[in-house]
Amino acid sequence: MPSAQVPELPALGVNADRLASSLHESCQYGADHRYGKLSTETGMARLSLDDSDKAVRDWFLSKAKSLGCRTSIDEMGNLFAVRPGKNPEAPPIMMGSHLDTQPTGGRYDGILGVLAGLEVLEVLEENKMQTDGSIGVVNWTNEEGARFPKMAVSSGVWAGAIPIEDAWNLEEVTPHEGKAKNMLQELERIGYRGEAPASYKSNPFAAHFELHIEQGPILEDEGRKIGVVQGVQAFKWFNVTVRGRDSHAGTTPLYARKDSVLVAAKMIVAANSVAKAHDGLATTGILHAEPGTVNTMAHTTTFSLDLRHVGNDVLAEMVKECKDAFQSIAQETEKGCEVDWKLLVDSPAVVFHQDCISAVQSSAEAVCAQLPGASSKNLWKPMISGAGHDSCYTNLRCPTSMIFTPTREGISHNPAEYCSAEDCALGASVLLGAVLRYDKLRADRGDFKHTS
Ligand SMILES: [Zn+2]
Repeated sequence: MPSAQVPELPALGVNADRLASSLHESCQYGADHRYGKLSTETGMARLSLDDSDKAVRDWFLSKAKSLGCRTSIDEMGNLFAVRPGKNPEAPPIMMGSHLDTQPTGGRYDGILGVLAGLEVLEVLEENKMQTDGSIGVVNWTNEEGARFPKMAVSSGVWAGAIPIEDAWNLEEVTPHEGKAKNMLQELERIGYRGEAPASYKSNPFAAHFELHIEQGPILEDEGRKIGVVQGVQAFKWFNVTVRGRDSHAGTTPLYARKDSVLVAAKMIVAANSVAKAHDGLATTGILHAEPGTVNTMAHTTTFSLDLRHVGNDVLAEMVKECKDAFQSIAQETEKGCEVDWKLLVDSPAVVFHQDCISAVQSSAEAVCAQLPGASSKNLWKPMISGAGHDSCYTNLRCPTSMIFTPTREGISHNPAEYCSAEDCALGASVLLGAVLRYDKLRADRGDFKHTS
């Protein structure tokens, strides 16, 4: 849908300085890992439900109230701030992301999406803009999965994909002091176990839009400003175990060995070749050898294998080719090692909703058209997300899509993570335009006929 078809939308843009200053104001809670002289040149260590997370939650709610929003908290500590529209009974369009970070995280991952949502509400407020439906912001609890080891767990509970008891019982990975605490204990300790059920049934959304840094180098490398995200690639995680035989490093000739480390190494190389052949990704991040001495070959080696592709079918083919290759490496190359696979995570490809993608694309076209260089080159591009997000869960229950902004050198989950104030503002302006377009779409197709 070209933007020319919605001429009645006012040409609103966000305030770049205000967005930057409120983003950095919110980062006073949990700032850590200084890397430069400026006060904003630190990373973040704001682990979910710790004291700094409580402080930023208090800050978020008071900010939202000052913008005239209705605020609420559910049983997972998800925070909702809604600016009523002309039809306040209809489900709101929500702009969501997360305020928690990795222990060595940056100032933009998740934080930009929530703060851009608040900035959008502020623009609507200062322009006294009455939307047809309500528009709101959501801060999802423990998206990172860094403290409580399940990523996007609270949007997962909201979507009915994760039982709330499983979420509440998650124990922190690194206990602060003494015994590990679980999510429920920490929600109660900081006073953020809300009353409202964490469910799309009692708290439905009309749509969910998430602005997020790309966390990869593509936009920056191609000199573009906005990613119009179509979906999220599929991935599977495995634990692979190779069993050989331990024997003496000095007395066992090479031909007589069953060296599980050598076999695992060949398998990791083979997985990389399979990924290259299919334009996919293969990663091993964990490798263990037993018994683990210098002068004995290991009898058992285990390693993790993360395989990804945008298409479920191609990912299945990659898994099959890896299994065949590993089998022949174990049996033929090293004469009788054994290989075992265990599936840890299976996350199929996510396809976002076309109505949301169209609203984002049309907004991106309009925003990018104002920029220098727009006449010679498309400054936005359709993209697939390489990482999982809360939007993967909201997509199960309401129309959803995402917007990406450039990320310096593609670095994320790192204190030096950076997106310039101008690029943050461009992303927030695309978010604003997408939400207004979607609001208009709802009015045009008669979403409010029964509620007004
Ligand atoms: Zn994130």
